Amino acid sequence: MEKACGHCGHLMHVHLRKIVYMNHTEIEHVPVYRCSCCEHHELVEQVKEELKQVLLQVPREQGTISFADYSPFTRMMLRACYCTADFQVDDWLDMYLLVSSLHDSVWLGEIEQALREL
Ligand SMILES: [Zn+2]
Repeated sequence: MEKACGHCGHLMHVHLRKIVYMNHTEIEHVPVYRCSCCEHHELVEQVKEELKQVLLQVPREQGTISFADYSPFTRMMLRACYCTADFQVDDWLDMYLLVSSLHDSVWLGEIEQALREL
């Protein structure tokens, strides 16, 4: 999935990011487009409505939630990240950084394995 950056015209790719809502809730695995040229970010169109629903539902002091629990589209993306054959080194490293921020050591191990096999 990619689209042209509205700021500089470069290609933007989808990444899963953590966003902070109202300083009290962290939402992980939110799919956004990121421009590698100017760092412009944009929420993926398909999840806008789902994200809105999550923000309306989520109780205060919830802490950290995974958007994948609320968004079928994001669950699909997470799965695709695992099986896609044309995942590039940069994508894996991105994923590695993302997962290490989640302190998920099992998942990290799987990604390290994938990196070694590239
Ligand atoms: Zn750009």
